Amino acid sequence: MSNPSLLILPGDGIGPEVMAEVRKVIDWYGAKRDLAFDVSEDLVGGAAYDAHGTPLADETMAKAQEVDAVLLGAVGGPKYDVLDFSVKPERGLLRLRKEMDLYANLRPAQCFDALADFSSLKTDVVAGLDIMIVRELTSGIYFGEPRGIIEEGNERVGINTQRYTESEIDRVARSAFELAMRRDKKLCSMEKANVMESGVLWREVVTEVAKDYPEVELSHMYADAGAMQLTRWPKQFDVIVTDNLFGDLLSDLAAMLTGSLGMLPSASLGAPMSNGRPKALYEPVHGSAPDIAGQGKANPIACILSFAMALRYSFDQGDEATRLEQAVEKVLADGLRTADLLGEEGKAPVSTSEMGDAIVAAL
Ligand code: ATP
Ligand code: MG
Repeated sequence: MSNPSLLILPGDGIGPEVMAEVRKVIDWYGAKRDLAFDVSEDLVGGAAYDAHGTPLADETMAKAQEVDAVLLGAVGGPKYDVLDFSVKPERGLLRLRKEMDLYANLRPAQCFDALADFSSLKTDVVAGLDIMIVRELTSGIYFGEPRGIIEEGNERVGINTQRYTESEIDRVARSAFELAMRRDKKLCSMEKANVMESGVLWREVVTEVAKDYPEVELSHMYADAGAMQLTRWPKQFDVIVTDNLFGDLLSDLAAMLTGSLGMLPSASLGAPMSNGRPKALYEPVHGSAPDIAGQGKANPIACILSFAMALRYSFDQGDEATRLEQAVEKVLADGLRTADLLGEEGKAPVSTSEMGDAIVAAL
């Protein structure tokens, strides 16, 4: 059997810096766990624009469609602000998401014990927190028609339409149930069925899909109440599934329960491929952070944890994913901190590569 394939797109800013640390981790798995990947690397974003005049070359797009998983660093930077919208770095990422049809965006909110006192919330609220938000990513109010600003009488009206088809709800619900099956078998669906028709349909379809997953305990919550419960006692949840707009808000809220942007991984999943695993793109939540790029200050953990998600969801290596997460936990417990993880403590930060080396050593 051939090795699982991985396309690496480091991108811009701190993207290549954090990706270099992931390469060390990947090399470790090849050398020490006999888990070799068929890795190819290519350009995306500003780096691709500089080389090819486009933020994502057709050949790169084709490669992304073929591999088992794509791992992306970050795109964009001030240098590209003057570019026409059609060739902006972000368009490279949007094209990947659109053409791979990645409709389920997974954002974990996981609190490492060593960082529990770094959160803005009380330690007991976040210590040990491990939840996952599944946000529908390709439909809903961001795409619904009609939309626009129209003239009506003597004033203008801004219009957006929240629109969901049964099949759009069905497929993202299935992604969430599949995920719940691999976790604590608990799923909470959030919408506003009390005031929105799309919410009524959402609740109906999710309830229907639940019949295929009798082991999963399903609950429903209005999204506003959900926001409140997420800040009050987030540990009551395991997996949450919600639409594009509510997911945008709730996943940011949930993520920041746990501390720094430099810690947060994400996955965007599409339809299952012939091997049964979904099409997938993994990336840290943070952007290219131009203010710290090239200085060895970036925290590589978000990108390393994104690779852990790839191990779990694309390569069927849940135990190895856990091993990697435990290695991260260990270096944090040992007190290692990149600059973004230091408050007022006056401790000396470690560099990007020191953090990567320490994680490999912990492995
Ligand atoms: P984008 O538009 O791509 O989302 P942004 O400017 O909104 O970019 P980020 O690039 O994610 O946001 O960065 C916001 C700030 O957070 C950065 O200026 C940087 O200081 C900090 N930051 C982000 N990622 C990291 C990281 N991995 N390590 C350390 N600090 C980070
Ligand atoms: Mg941003």
